[in-house]
Amino acid sequence: MENIRENIENIRKRIADAAQRVGRDTDDIKLISVTKTVDIDKVEEAIEAGSLDAGENKPQELARKYDVLGNKIRWHQIGSLQTNKVKYIIDKVCMIHSLDREGLAEEIDKRASKINRVIDCLVQVNISGEESKHGMTREEVEPFIRLVSEKYHNIKIKGLMTMAPFDAERDEIRKVFRNLKELSEEINNMNIENVDMTELSMGMTNDFEIAIEEGATMVRVGTAIFGKRNYNK
Ligand SMILES: *Cc1c(COP(=O)(O)O)cnc(C)c1O
Repeated sequence: MENIRENIENIRKRIADAAQRVGRDTDDIKLISVTKTVDIDKVEEAIEAGSLDAGENKPQELARKYDVLGNKIRWHQIGSLQTNKVKYIIDKVCMIHSLDREGLAEEIDKRASKINRVIDCLVQVNISGEESKHGMTREEVEPFIRLVSEKYHNIKIKGLMTMAPFDAERDEIRKVFRNLKELSEEINNMNIENVDMTELSMGMTNDFEIAIEEGATMVRVGTAIFGKRNYNK
């Protein structure tokens, strides 16, 4: 049995330690509990332990949990998002971390404008260039952000997101996070209208401390809080 409260407290401590190592303020780092495949009662335990941000990667699962828990926890769409699933989550999410193509921006913008919302989004970048990973190449990011800024006014770009290669060496992982931070600063310096490059969503169970040392403002942690996922339920 996982002790969710204990796990969250332990991760908070590790977040604080990592922040301290590089002279950052812990309050600038948000822990997102990744609740995919996790039962509702476990999510409730996390809420009781003070975890107020949840990440899901399947829109229907997010919607189903939202129906029970509502705004007791803020919902983040963190996984690749099919255009035809945007409708399930548009009125429920506080942020979409996986904006990676114009077709998706168009759909988010259309649905958001219907309900009079501006949706905070992060652009997902495939820094490592792994074929299996979603996300834009480094070169595509700036023109894409300019396009969104000009054309899709119900989307607010708030920063970037990436996933490090799964089985890479620590140095390699660090490089990926460092590159994302650099890219974010480059774009920030361009002062593109209606773009606010404040968030860097990077780091998971195996690498969140490196991510924090390299500037993450949001870490997405599942396994270290809820234990190993069971996808067969
Ligand atoms: C599943 C998932 C996570 C969490 O992974 P853990 O290794 O369990 O911490 C983080 N980000 C995304 C996009 C995910 O799909």
